[in-house]
Amino acid sequence: MSSHDLRSHGRRRFLEAGGAGLALALAGCAAMPSAATRSRVVVIGGGYGGATAARYIRMLDPSVEVTMIEPNTEFISCPMSNLVLGGFSTIAAISTPYTALTQRHGVRWVRDSATAIDLEKKEVRVSRGETFGYDRLIVSPGIDFMWDALPAMRAEEAQNYVLHAWKAGAQTFGLRRQLESMPDGGVFVLSIPEAPYRCPPGPYERACQVAAFFKAHKPRSKVLVLDANGDVTSKGPLFKKAWAELYPGLIEYRPNTKAIDVDWRLKTVKLEFGDQKGDVLNVLPPMKAGSIAAPFITANNRWCNVDWITYESTAVKGVHVLGDSLQIAPAMPKSATMANAHGKTCAAAVVALLKGEAPNPAPTLINTCYSMVSDKMAVHVASVHKYDEKDKTMKAVPGAGGVSAAMNEQEAQYTWNWAKNIWADTLG
Ligand SMILES: Cc1cc2nc3c(=O)[nH]c(=O)nc-3n(C[C@H](O)[C@H](O)[C@H](O)COP(=O)(O)OP(=O)(O)OC[C@H]3O[C@@H](n4cnc5c(N)ncnc54)[C@H](O)[C@@H]3O)c2cc1C
Repeated sequence: MSSHDLRSHGRRRFLEAGGAGLALALAGCAAMPSAATRSRVVVIGGGYGGATAARYIRMLDPSVEVTMIEPNTEFISCPMSNLVLGGFSTIAAISTPYTALTQRHGVRWVRDSATAIDLEKKEVRVSRGETFGYDRLIVSPGIDFMWDALPAMRAEEAQNYVLHAWKAGAQTFGLRRQLESMPDGGVFVLSIPEAPYRCPPGPYERACQVAAFFKAHKPRSKVLVLDANGDVTSKGPLFKKAWAELYPGLIEYRPNTKAIDVDWRLKTVKLEFGDQKGDVLNVLPPMKAGSIAAPFITANNRWCNVDWITYESTAVKGVHVLGDSLQIAPAMPKSATMANAHGKTCAAAVVALLKGEAPNPAPTLINTCYSMVSDKMAVHVASVHKYDEKDKTMKAVPGAGGVSAAMNEQEAQYTWNWAKNIWADTLG
């Protein structure tokens, strides 16, 4: 069933039930299993949002059967993955097995990809054909790429050559290899799409990490940042200070420079105005919700709207969406800290809903986002997001949070502490 079929199918089902009010009531009844049966939650995606939700549901109510569908053999963190490009960390150091989640917390892990969701039968099908029934479904597949925005990049050979490394793992490793093979005096071109995209400060941190590598090993080389946005989208003054003080002459930043295609054979990024050649191209395509979340996309053909109290999709009852797939609330970044916080809030709401209880009516979330500007120094931005009853959205609390006063080594220690804490909080 295509995503469009799924969408219209879901709508038809609700309409057949006799209108929105009745549909809501029926969905609510279906979510409450009889005392004799265990409630079943299926989670699609074992990243920051999904794994956190799976773990917390089991901790809050061990009677709930939680099945997590995730194809990767282990969790590999995007946060800290830019350090692998800089040569200051390894894939092994940012990877965590799923064993604590399965053995300590009793999450059932299906190592496969979800390929279809039957909203009527309340079942998820995986690629090997098996199906998993649910009372509530949690969808946290992260992002997918809008290749149509860079037409030549639709070809597999182009994608194998021009890496994004915006999902940590093989691509991170591959991009590091390309940097190692690049001649001294070469140009690393980093192309950033218009916001919103996963991790607003991530590309600027990457520019620092690659420049740190060049400074130590290929000092005649250059990082060229082509940004479709009008300015650095996060921690701008801090990044610009780091570039000027730590990497003079190594990083060139060009705002309002949007990529419209790539000629991988000619190692060229095609821009709205002119072309740019490079020795290593790192093009971040525009992004949208992970493809399995397509039936729940409600904003700009890209993102999923939810009720911020329960994370229930505004398109389909009984389905909750988390993390980067969401249409973000004002000033809320697409970050691991946020996805982890979504996971916890959603887990508590799902446990309450399964018991027929009311969820917390006023959730508050905290975001902290660190960026390593070298191997030893870091900066951060923090914010607090509170549910606004009147506008039914999350709003940043004025005066709470802010950016770090300076870049320093203490911040780098906090960065690693943050990473280890969130890996433990997500995976157990
Ligand atoms: C380079 C980089 C640096 C970053 N640094 C930071 C940082 O310092 N701090 C911070 O807070 N955030 C950072 N982020 C952002 C952070 O990684 C994301 O915001 C976060 O991973 C979002 O969590 P998620 O659960 O939505 O997606 P993910 O963590 O990507 O998890 C999605 C999971 O779903 C799985 N999946 C997808 N489709 C299916 C399917 N059909 N069936 C089953 N499973 C599926 C995937 O395999 C994946 O494991 C960074 C991102 C990048 C790229």
